[in-house]
Amino acid sequence: MAKVVIIGAGLGGLAASLRLRHAGFEVTVLEKQTRFGGRCNLIVEDGFRADTGPTILVMKGVLEEFYRSVGEDLHRRLELVRLEPNYRLYFHDGSQLDLHNSMAELANAAEMLVPGAAPRVFRFLGDAATKYELAMEFVTRNYRYLTDLINPKSIGRLLRTRAYQNLYAQVGRFFENNDKLSKAFSFHSMFLGLSPLESPAMYSLITYADLALGMWYPQGGMYRLVEDLVQLAEDKGVILRANAPVAEIEIARGHVTGVRLTSGERVSADIVISNADLPYTYRHLIAPAWRGAYSERRLERMRYACSGYILFLGVKKTYAELPHQSIYFAGDYRANLEAIFHTHTLPEEPSFHLNHPTATDITAAPPGHSLLYLLAPMPNLQGNRIDWSSAASVVRNRLLDILERILDPDIRQHIVWERDYRPTDWLRDVNAVHGTAFGSLAHDFFQSAYFRPHNKSYEVAGLYFVGQGTYPGIGIPMVIISAGLVAERILREWP
Ligand SMILES: Cc1cc2nc3c(=O)[nH]c(=O)nc-3n(C[C@H](O)[C@H](O)[C@H](O)COP(=O)(O)OP(=O)(O)OC[C@H]3O[C@@H](n4cnc5c(N)ncnc54)[C@H](O)[C@@H]3O)c2cc1C
Repeated sequence: MAKVVIIGAGLGGLAASLRLRHAGFEVTVLEKQTRFGGRCNLIVEDGFRADTGPTILVMKGVLEEFYRSVGEDLHRRLELVRLEPNYRLYFHDGSQLDLHNSMAELANAAEMLVPGAAPRVFRFLGDAATKYELAMEFVTRNYRYLTDLINPKSIGRLLRTRAYQNLYAQVGRFFENNDKLSKAFSFHSMFLGLSPLESPAMYSLITYADLALGMWYPQGGMYRLVEDLVQLAEDKGVILRANAPVAEIEIARGHVTGVRLTSGERVSADIVISNADLPYTYRHLIAPAWRGAYSERRLERMRYACSGYILFLGVKKTYAELPHQSIYFAGDYRANLEAIFHTHTLPEEPSFHLNHPTATDITAAPPGHSLLYLLAPMPNLQGNRIDWSSAASVVRNRLLDILERILDPDIRQHIVWERDYRPTDWLRDVNAVHGTAFGSLAHDFFQSAYFRPHNKSYEVAGLYFVGQGTYPGIGIPMVIISAGLVAERILREWP
């Protein structure tokens, strides 16, 4: 059987290693960092255990199918807890909305906030369900030709769902342009690193997936998923090496021959799959002669997703009323998004995701303590307009000022442990292009599906890609699907 080297042990690399090992390939994974998991990582310190990346599992069925495909049962290996509510939303004027996963409770909560909203919620969800159903066909396939995406059937679907329209505007039409409800049912595109004001309406399918299929937390934290995949890979004979940064993909006469590590060591291979950020792979690991369509100029002109700033707080106090997840919307939401996506400046008032894992899992903090994780979307490092060595404390204080207002006026006095994670940290730790957080390439129409970089090099035989940089894209379910797609392609091409 062919010998496979995978560069990077993110969730995409780990899942691909398991798929291919299960099919009989000899697989080695080379990871630059000391700890596996890539963007899904961990800080353990002073009794606090904080996930540094993803906080929640969505589209659980994708993970269930993946485990089945390698002969395992997800639910025998991880204990998943369903969140209720999915989120509490805090608006600038002090009002709140809980996004319940019971549709009746959700409609009721929306009705309390905006009289007359209940039937509109159902209408919105019905439309989003259709988008979800139709889009999944484009998410779960390998592309080769433009006609795989654009054909009479798909054009019919696009027109039927109006998925090409603007997300925020379309959601607004369901809710008579009520500002709070428009935000409440469109903010999810931020998790693709994309502004709701600019996202295609297609991505209301994420809102639907969250609400209808549920949001899940693995007991013990998100990093339990990485630990479990690593354990499975080792048990099944995948060779996993940490502290093994790759410097170059070696190519001879149009075929990969292996990789060279920064240490100078060479590892030979018939097939190389890069799980590292795709634009980084082209720019740093592939010699210019073999980059094909991905010239320096094209890579620079691609649209990159946003970054983020995370503030981790260990607090000597518990918050019984605070749910697992909340979102705070800045008063001037448009200015907030403009700063992140256009002027690349520090938002005056950040919107943020407030994660409270100790609501579900008391093992994330010492007894009597809470763990809080505040993730504020931020500009990526393009243009280098922000000096993070000084900006970090500014953002920290802005976030704490808001927490004082919405959660606890004395929060600062109760903080006993604190860490942060900045755009420059993603660049350093995972070679994230421009320090992007959730994934590198933005999900606009011309960087989605067929238009997203393909999972195979058409110039170099034996060179493939997996993870958020290729299709379908950003987020755990998508990178797990990408592992299935690249394995399917390799099995077809390397019978
Ligand atoms: C703050 C945050 C919150 C998120 N929240 C969620 C969430 O709640 N739910 C969800 O579904 N998704 C979430 N995401 C998105 C999700 O985590 C990512 O899209 C996904 O983990 C990306 O996985 P990947 O395998 O594609 O890439 P990565 O995780 O980026 O893995 C790439 C790996 O390649 C390694 N590498 C890079 N260069 C080299 C080299 N030269 N040699 C060797 N190794 C190399 C890196 O170190 C890394 O381990 C979140 C992400 C972040 C950052």
